[in-house]
Amino acid sequence: MSRTFAAVVAHPDDDTFGVAGTVAVHADEPGFRFVLIHVTSGEAGSIADPALATRETLGQVREEEDRRSWIVLGREPDRHEWLRYPDHGVADAPFDELVGRIADILRDERPDVVSTFGPDGVTGHPDHIRVGEAASAAFHRVREEGGAGFRRLIHDAIPQSMLDRWNERLVADGHEPMDPAQLYQPRGVPDETIGLDVDTSAVADRVVAALREHRTQAGEVQDMSEEELLRLASSEHAVIAWPERTPGAPVLHDVFEGLD
Ligand SMILES: [Zn+2]
Repeated sequence: MSRTFAAVVAHPDDDTFGVAGTVAVHADEPGFRFVLIHVTSGEAGSIADPALATRETLGQVREEEDRRSWIVLGREPDRHEWLRYPDHGVADAPFDELVGRIADILRDERPDVVSTFGPDGVTGHPDHIRVGEAASAAFHRVREEGGAGFRRLIHDAIPQSMLDRWNERLVADGHEPMDPAQLYQPRGVPDETIGLDVDTSAVADRVVAALREHRTQAGEVQDMSEEELLRLASSEHAVIAWPERTPGAPVLHDVFEGLD
């Protein structure tokens, strides 16, 4: 059986945080195909160490960090597309053109499942929110044309209870809690809206190794202990955006579960 999974993200490292565990879980299945689309190269991001990149080279360096992260994870994408829209400028780019470019790749690949951001953008980042809108629109555009694939659309999400526990630990360790009202801080969705809860604990060490390859972005994880990172990498969650999930329906534990 062949199964194609496509992820559409904004920046290098969104993919590692969002879907690396799921990809690692399926890595060795012969029919598994993984398609990855990056809308930007992350050139407006932080530079943790000036020896790693300059403002001019950061986009190129982050593309390379991302490629390395998949090598370290042990499963590279079968197809990896960089659309190279301006980082922090996706919301200002022509929306229909962005939808069209994503749709062209999805039409070519006919993925069974597409993963992207939901309206919360996980961190409220405007690039995340716009990429999620564009990828979701592209999914439906191609799905409505008819043909194979396009069975499920998922929106990456953090269950509120997980964020609450995370904040409790931060406060217990003497840190400030994260504030979801602030831009770029993680925000949760109500637990009952989570339709997919994937146990990635068996591959969590590889996901953490992949996260560490995003060296220019080391600030994102530098305060976290190995134990905390492993906990973070031990599960991946999503809202099932399409087909609409009946409230109270069983939570899925695999992206392809129930698709025959
Ligand atoms: Zn991002």
